[in-house]
Amino acid sequence: MKRGVTVTHYRDTHALIRLDYLQDNVNTLYQRVQKPMMAIIKANAYGHGYQEVANVLKDHEHISMFGVATLKEAIDLRKLGIEQDILVLGAIPLKDLDFVIDYDITLTLFSKEYMEEIVELYHHEKPVKVHIKIDTGMNRIGLKTKTEFEDVLRNYPKDIFQIDGVFTHFATADDPLQNDAYENQLNMFYDIVGDHQFRYIHCQNSASMMYHHEEKSNLARIGIAMYGVDPAGEESVHLKQVMSLYSRVVMIKKIKKERK
Ligand SMILES: *Cc1c(COP(=O)(O)O)cnc(C)c1O
Repeated sequence: MKRGVTVTHYRDTHALIRLDYLQDNVNTLYQRVQKPMMAIIKANAYGHGYQEVANVLKDHEHISMFGVATLKEAIDLRKLGIEQDILVLGAIPLKDLDFVIDYDITLTLFSKEYMEEIVELYHHEKPVKVHIKIDTGMNRIGLKTKTEFEDVLRNYPKDIFQIDGVFTHFATADDPLQNDAYENQLNMFYDIVGDHQFRYIHCQNSASMMYHHEEKSNLARIGIAMYGVDPAGEESVHLKQVMSLYSRVVMIKKIKKERK
């Protein structure tokens, strides 16, 4: 009997999820980067089942945080009993700010306007935990310039925000032909961060961890590689595929050649 979680849905086809492989992949990636990691378990843990995945990772020595895409995913993790910090990587609708504070969720601060909206809505006792997002070329959410970044750092109310981190997300880390673009983004990130100190500085995703070396950050975000999938198919790091699909051949027919 193989160890793992089996999902069937009343069919002869099932997905087997090897949670031991998931842990092996985390260890393999840790060997490479030598820094604590944020496990990315958005989108139902990339389809692997977030409850099971979170349950094995919550006690893993190298996983110090969780990252998700939405507030719903973050609250679901809290309800499962996850005690580590949970960062929502996307924008949270501020009508739900109360839940962010009640469930002790960390949000992504991505513009001065967003910061000001939070200040207006804020009526709590505990500060909001945030990581500041810097946009270095992905062109999703994030502050674009050093001026904007400095402006936020100068003006944020200390009793409302607890700034725990700063991060960026690379647009091209998985493309070996775009090394210059990657280096430019990395340089832009550190230029904007400057000498400011944060509890967490993070920029690496799976591709960046696997194809590049980066030593200034102190946390790496591990997504697709944790599930055993090499983002560029280069197989430079040996990973174990966590999900396998099994099925049953229901019938075999012999047919004559060229029979219409
Ligand atoms: C999804 C996501 C990741 C994980 O990326 P992988 O390529 O799967 O490692 C990291 N950071 C952010 C901001 C993400 O949205």
